[in-house]
Amino acid sequence: MAKRNPYPDAKKLLDFIDQSPSPWHATANMADQLRAAGYQLLDESTAWSLEPGSGYFVIRDESSLIAFQTGTAPPSASGFSLLGAHTDSPGLRVKPNPTTESKKLIRIGVEVYGGPILATFADRDLGLAGRLVYRDQDQLATRLVRFPTPIMRIPSLAIHMDRQVNEQGLKLDKQTQIPPLLGAASDELPAQQQFRQLLADQAQLDPDQIVSWELNLFDAQPGSFYGPAGEFIANGQLDNLASCHAAMTALLAQSGPGEQTRVCGFFDHEEVGSTSSKGAAGSFLADTLQRICATLESDPSAAKQALARSFLISADMAHAWNPAFASSYDDAHAVQVNGGPVIKINANQRYSTEALSEAIFADLCATAKVPVQRYVHRTDLPCGSTIGPITAAALGVRSIDVGNPMWSMHSARESAGAADHGMMIKVMNQFLSQKLPAV
Ligand SMILES: [Zn+2]
Repeated sequence: MAKRNPYPDAKKLLDFIDQSPSPWHATANMADQLRAAGYQLLDESTAWSLEPGSGYFVIRDESSLIAFQTGTAPPSASGFSLLGAHTDSPGLRVKPNPTTESKKLIRIGVEVYGGPILATFADRDLGLAGRLVYRDQDQLATRLVRFPTPIMRIPSLAIHMDRQVNEQGLKLDKQTQIPPLLGAASDELPAQQQFRQLLADQAQLDPDQIVSWELNLFDAQPGSFYGPAGEFIANGQLDNLASCHAAMTALLAQSGPGEQTRVCGFFDHEEVGSTSSKGAAGSFLADTLQRICATLESDPSAAKQALARSFLISADMAHAWNPAFASSYDDAHAVQVNGGPVIKINANQRYSTEALSEAIFADLCATAKVPVQRYVHRTDLPCGSTIGPITAAALGVRSIDVGNPMWSMHSARESAGAADHGMMIKVMNQFLSQKLPAV
């Protein structure tokens, strides 16, 4: 008999990531889950009619999604339980005129999206996925595309030509050395047309129909469990599809509506600063919350009252202690893989956590019977940030930044603890299922 996987939540996460090689795919997959659970898709360009105690979702430009379940009480009386995460991951994006050809080899020009560890993209089986805009008669339409097998590679230079690589690290020039190898140039078609034909065949379109694209390279190796007891996981995009998956799982696990309105927001463009129409610094969440209140309530100040009662858990990954680099951590605030969810604290508000939100989240963990850890970055190193401070500032809600511990953040192949994912789902579940804290 096959041994039962002790980490079923982590297994579902790895499957979700394998099916979501781009923010567009992640959003489409979450939309499918919501539809299957009876959530109704709303269109931002039409009027909404909402019922108390019902599930809805909105998508902005195919890669940001907000799902919500209206409460049995009006938002102004019971507030919003907000969970936030981001759908994008750092990596490489294909340029509009991408092909260069030399000595019969085609390479693909890419931009660096966000802050990936570039060397980790070398010598990996790279897949290509994203969205195409194409002309359908007189209209523009979009279609997701994904190549089922690896089609590109960034071959590193042999050590025989780079004797210092182990002392100096693998350094790749973004313009001249990162462009991946696609394959051999054909005698019949120019390289640019060859690439378009490849895209068209995969998307079942005519090459002339393709107008534009956003295409993402990804590590085609599926996620895996490793360690003697399979206690660790590895995959691309754990940052931050793990938090998206945890929040979605918690939302869909709710047995019925609560008094308060439950909201999960998943935003693109976090890795490039969140400033876009669909990023966390844009108006998407504020617009949606405002419309929920305007639809359900008559008092024009209902949304402001609701926000004053609300609480946001912004979930993004945290840096787990790595014994090979112990000096990179504040020893008193080093967090352990498989040690449970992490509260991220930064006095300079790179994280939105303050003392009360910290205490509230620690209580949630205690009620959910999961351990909690606290992370503070080394004081002599600049700290990263996430959507928490941006969203909290825009909405004026009490907020906390949390996340699960992981290694190798922004590597093509990241790694984390298999037990932590289930614990994060439990605490998010607890948060969504109970009334908002009255502070
Ligand atoms: Zn992140």
